Amino acid sequence: MPTRHATSHQDEPRRRARGGPFTLATVGLAVTTFILACERPPAPLPPLDVEWLPAQPAQGHLFLVRVAVPPEVGMVSAWGEAAGEELYFVLAEGAASGAAGAGSPAASGGSPAASGGSPAASGGSPAAPDSVFESLAAVPIGATDTIDAWVEATYSDGRTQSDSLRIPIVAGEYDHERLTVAPRFGSPPGEEDQARLRREREKAAQVSRDTRMTPRIWTSDMVMPRDSRVTSEFGTGREFNGQISSRHMGLDLAGARGDTVVAAADGIVALVDSFLLAGNIVYLNHGGGLQSSYSHLSEQLVEAGDAVTAGTPIGRVGATGRVTGPHLHWVVRYGGTTVAPRSLLALFR
Ligand SMILES: [Zn+2]
Repeated sequence: MPTRHATSHQDEPRRRARGGPFTLATVGLAVTTFILACERPPAPLPPLDVEWLPAQPAQGHLFLVRVAVPPEVGMVSAWGEAAGEELYFVLAEGAASGAAGAGSPAASGGSPAASGGSPAASGGSPAAPDSVFESLAAVPIGATDTIDAWVEATYSDGRTQSDSLRIPIVAGEYDHERLTVAPRFGSPPGEEDQARLRREREKAAQVSRDTRMTPRIWTSDMVMPRDSRVTSEFGTGREFNGQISSRHMGLDLAGARGDTVVAAADGIVALVDSFLLAGNIVYLNHGGGLQSSYSHLSEQLVEAGDAVTAGTPIGRVGATGRVTGPHLHWVVRYGGTTVAPRSLLALFR
């Protein structure tokens, strides 16, 4: 009898997210499969082996979801959703292109896991990288306790298998600070500025949509856009003029006017513009749902459509837009979810 889960993962809460109709449908599917099995014995579907790293992602952080490819059937694709954002799976780095086919030997890494039908690693440790589909995922900063996710895998014989997950998260550490701002920013924007802000939000949203339509470009090669001091952390609550409270949804890095800003990861320049609050900006589309942006630049060194790699100079530090002094404001988004920028680099260290 095929089962949806033969999970070898730790505790029960790591798994079940949905009951009710989903369970009934699963029972129905199992009965159908059983009837078919009476006529022609199929190879049983291996359990879907889903893991995430780190085991307890933090509020406002990125994490990785990995689905191990069972060598005996091979997996051609996977898709899913976590905390409302679509997941974009690709074979993890170092994977042989034939790894999705049943039992094809891995070309890299010296790991025996993908060859000769030996089972992929399981039981809580990450499977060998040459037999794994991988996607980024994001924990919204406002999430508490757990986020819900599901993954569906399609095997080389056309059968599919899905799993729903409830992923426990840990609280992020976010401070609250009181700021004074220049008087001209203390009052609400006029009609003209509001219209401009709307247009700018739409341009930014279009970049988010484009990242969902672009195959993954980023690799584990990533760098800080500036090698300098953090002057304001991501997620810090802010109080302007004693009344408005908001969160700082980027990471501020120190710099003098003219200092170089580099791309954090491989991607394509999606937007070069001048925004009311963010000043001169560069947006990068890294594909697979991932984008980054760089604000308050004195100069932009790239044009929309340019391909960049991690470390490519894309602009110079400035004080354009709503700022009191030169610095870099760096933002990372997965889909429509803004996350702590350094949580991206932390995944591969
Ligand atoms: Zn900032």
